[in-house]
Amino acid sequence: MNAPAMSASRSGASTDFAVIGGGLCGRLVAWRLAGKGRRVALYERGDAAGTQSAAWVAAAMLAPLAEAASAELLITRLGATSLDSWPHIIAELPEPVFFQRNGTLVVWHHSDRGEAPLFERRLRANAPAELLDGGLLTLSGVQINAAEPALGGRFTQGWLLPHEGQLDNRQVLAALAAGLAERGVQTHWNTPVDDCALPAAHVTIDCRGLGAKPALPTLRGIRGEVARVHAPGIGLVRPVRLLHPRYPLYVAPKQNDLYVIGATEVEGEDMSPVSVRSALELLSAAFSVHPGFGEARILELNSQCRPTLPDHRPALVWDGAQTLRVNGLYRHGYMIAPEVADEAVRFALALADGQIADADAFADWRDHARWNELFHLDHRNPRDSVAREPA
Ligand SMILES: Cc1cc2nc3c(=O)[nH]c(=O)nc-3n(C[C@H](O)[C@H](O)[C@H](O)COP(=O)(O)OP(=O)(O)OC[C@H]3O[C@@H](n4cnc5c(N)ncnc54)[C@H](O)[C@@H]3O)c2cc1C
Repeated sequence: MNAPAMSASRSGASTDFAVIGGGLCGRLVAWRLAGKGRRVALYERGDAAGTQSAAWVAAAMLAPLAEAASAELLITRLGATSLDSWPHIIAELPEPVFFQRNGTLVVWHHSDRGEAPLFERRLRANAPAELLDGGLLTLSGVQINAAEPALGGRFTQGWLLPHEGQLDNRQVLAALAAGLAERGVQTHWNTPVDDCALPAAHVTIDCRGLGAKPALPTLRGIRGEVARVHAPGIGLVRPVRLLHPRYPLYVAPKQNDLYVIGATEVEGEDMSPVSVRSALELLSAAFSVHPGFGEARILELNSQCRPTLPDHRPALVWDGAQTLRVNGLYRHGYMIAPEVADEAVRFALALADGQIADADAFADWRDHARWNELFHLDHRNPRDSVAREPA
């Protein structure tokens, strides 16, 4: 059961930073800030495992090139840089995390071969040249069998995107929780926070995902459904994406013969259990990749909503005072979180240290930021001259 909402006043701040929302972003931001020797408190409405977050349900594929099929250049660049950061983050965490950089295999059934040129065109249009260089290898049926013996003869054409990765989402959440404890972050699990009763801190970083809707009215949820199955004996060694005109899905092998099969994309903030149609589509897709999935055991069918802004981009929104909102990570949270969180941490530190006191300083900061397209000033809060000026 959830504890009552926080009611501490913002005056008499006892910590430097209050991070609200302990899903993926909140944990990373709090852990990074604590690593810089700052006093940090984190407030999460759910438990320490992270079961209330989109991050708990995600497949955690780190596939900037494959995602270029639907994502723009900013996202693929954030993803490519973040992919290089994950091993360093994981090496610093006090618990092990399954991380793999063994590529993505993209395949299609003969009847869906018309999808392949469309997919390739979108990748070439949306991905930076350095990702495409040696990153998109055409495979014959024989080469598919060599790369992924489990698929033995089932597909006659495909692509290998050799530089892509994936990790275990729940291990990351657990390891970050342990990392927060190790770095002395004051963690308040099972503690929802309302906008009208923010905890005392010099700077607040709002990482509530979809829970930030009251503060970010254009935020919306895009429902995603996944299945987790146990399938010993199949032995896929990397995520496999299946091109399909109606339900492009993936099968991501984790440790111990666990597979995450995902994910649907449905407009709306429906958090109800997985529908029969979605379960059929997910499980049929896996079965069509490998009939061995017919004997798999269904461990979970899960649904969650991806926090999404109208332009499908992540955003760092400053309210012109003490609060930075980090949101809109949509379907790319794991893929881009290291860079987004680092940018948020740099800004939060500058805010706390008094370097960003007005709109001019904000504009200057944004102009010089590594990912300047992420930054926005919230004009709905004209508390002072800062928020009145366009940025
Ligand atoms: C089905 C599915 C599959 C996905 N697959 C992938 C993938 O393969 N690769 C990838 O990169 N990304 C994937 N994602 C996307 C990824 O999960 C999200 O982008 C990411 O979790 C967003 O991180 P976040 O911290 O902003 O939000 P969340 O992870 O949702 O965390 C927000 C946290 O805030 C807490 N909170 C909310 N309101 C309050 C409040 N009032 N007070 C205190 N706490 C509050 C919530 O409990 C939650 O823990 C997937 C998502 C889904 C749903």
